[in-house]
Amino acid sequence: MPLIRVLPETLVNQIAAGEVIERPASVVKELLENALDAGAGRVTVELEKAGKALIRVSDDGQGMAPEDVPLALASHATSKVTAAEDLEAITTLGFRGEALASIASVADVRLVSRPTDALEATEVEAGGGRVGEPRPAAGPVGTTVEVRNLFRYIPARRKFLKTDATEMGHCTEQVTRAALAYPAVHLAVAHNGRTVYELPPAETVRERVTAFFGAELGEALVTVEAEGPAGRITGLVAPPPVGRATGRHQYLFVNGRYVWDRSLLHALREAYRGLLEGRQQPVAFLFLTVPPERVDVNVHPTKTEVRLRDGHLLYGEVLAAIREKLLGPGLAPHVRMPGADGDEAAEGEDARSRRVREALADFLRAPPQQHHMDFHRRRAAGCGSTASSRVTPPPHATGHAAEADSGGTATGARPRAAAEAEGAGEGPALPHAIQIHNTYLVAETADGIVIVDQHALHERVLFEDLMARLEAGPLQGQRLLVPVTVDATDREMAAAEEHTEALARLGMDVAALGPRTLGVRSVPTLLAKADPEATLRDFLAWVLECDDPPTARQVLEQLAHVAACRAAVKAGDPLQPEEVRALLAHREAARLASTCPHGRPTALVLSKSDLEKQFGRDYAAGGAVTDEGLPF
Ligand code: ADP
Ligand code: MG
Repeated sequence: MPLIRVLPETLVNQIAAGEVIERPASVVKELLENALDAGAGRVTVELEKAGKALIRVSDDGQGMAPEDVPLALASHATSKVTAAEDLEAITTLGFRGEALASIASVADVRLVSRPTDALEATEVEAGGGRVGEPRPAAGPVGTTVEVRNLFRYIPARRKFLKTDATEMGHCTEQVTRAALAYPAVHLAVAHNGRTVYELPPAETVRERVTAFFGAELGEALVTVEAEGPAGRITGLVAPPPVGRATGRHQYLFVNGRYVWDRSLLHALREAYRGLLEGRQQPVAFLFLTVPPERVDVNVHPTKTEVRLRDGHLLYGEVLAAIREKLLGPGLAPHVRMPGADGDEAAEGEDARSRRVREALADFLRAPPQQHHMDFHRRRAAGCGSTASSRVTPPPHATGHAAEADSGGTATGARPRAAAEAEGAGEGPALPHAIQIHNTYLVAETADGIVIVDQHALHERVLFEDLMARLEAGPLQGQRLLVPVTVDATDREMAAAEEHTEALARLGMDVAALGPRTLGVRSVPTLLAKADPEATLRDFLAWVLECDDPPTARQVLEQLAHVAACRAAVKAGDPLQPEEVRALLAHREAARLASTCPHGRPTALVLSKSDLEKQFGRDYAAGGAVTDEGLPF
């Protein structure tokens, strides 16, 4: 017996309504969007019982032709898109053609509309999926939609509605968002017959903020304005120390649409990092204008989450625009630097904060890509071809080195200790060595000479060091002022999530910043100069290549491996003589295996006897030539 059947349209709409119409506020949102899309100059919202009994939204927009009035209530009926291409660049708030049909499937609806060029209006009633006959009616130019008895036709939903106060709060929130995004539109709101808001057209967003959040906040806000390759940012932000206990005063709009975007909200919080007291949250009203084809609204039925093509660029632009404003002239800096040492204290509070402010402002003025460059120099892809950290001698190579570099054998510190030690003539003698072709180190050994691949050796040194540390416990991470964002595929996102803990053990704090964006918020202190993006990518690529889930030990080794590879000096990096010696001292100290973790040899050894053979000096063996017989 066949079991599959096509559902009746009413049921389809009720299911669709389940996604879009969650509570009275959802209806308010959809009706406000329709009014704004119709170009209204004035919109009135009337509610009874927080919208549970009645929601009436009237506008003076373009209205609908008589034959369009019943169509507006049909499912998938819209005047806003006609072809798939239209979805590529949505310029209206609505486009799904589902809102009115959804609402009419779960409540009683009356729609009256009159277009500008008509003498009378058309009225139609609908409810529970049934649409009545349109008939002429009296009414002004524009549209009025009345929604009564919400969820009458799906009582299960009705039970989930909260108190009037709570539902009214949600409705007000929707009005607030529309009012902020469209300050030029006159908005009036009444509840149970009483006027709640009467907002005449405003010149500025600030007026609207004042109306909803009070004059004190309205006056405190400062203007942010910036234009970058990804789009334009305008808005108002609160200067520290003005903050709020929750993030509810963070409004973000993209092309006039209120959106919730994890990544951009993160950028906002980053901009305030270190500037707010305790757990205070930033206050901001931000408006982004981006080319409509660079934002995909067709992601979620409520259209509140969007996909931004230039998400990572916008992240940097938002962060830089706000941060620069907060640290710029006219705003008292409140930068708090943890662990300021004596020198800085002596410098004086003012001078210090000015210096910090300038440094940060300079840093942020650079386009986001360059921020990365400051942390680590990029090179062509491939193992051993990226960032370098400088080479320092092992702690026990010299007496001084142990103190100066304790705990930092793999860090980016210059090998000062080695040079000092040599100057003082202490400790075991470091080998005579030179670098050739900026790639190989040639050194004298007790029994001949050794030729070392500098990258392979450094990588090996770092790997051993990291493994020893990782086995002992988690490595310390250093927070990045600007998190490094990494575009990732769905599989990479999942792999990163699965191994968050292992990455944290390495000192890398990795979190999802968006549906396809990872953020690296801290890097291992030991490898501060390594490229975190490349390190993460290498690791994820390995995870995805594994046929079987790797063991914890394999994961740890791989982390040490990719981190070491990315942090090591590479072929072509010129090294200072001290660095050459420091690297070789590591080799001596650790008596390292002569292969790098990739299996490539790190060293070629030529013994004295090999050399002698090559030069025909092996008289001891053959006895044919004597020393005296040679020209030198
Ligand atoms: P959408 O907004 O996604 O197109 P809706 O179901 O919300 O879908 O509305 C369907 C259609 O009804 C709209 O495309 C529009 O043509 C018309 N419409 C709805 N509300 C109004 C209004 N207030 N003024 C003018 N036309 C409207
Ligand atoms: Mg709509």
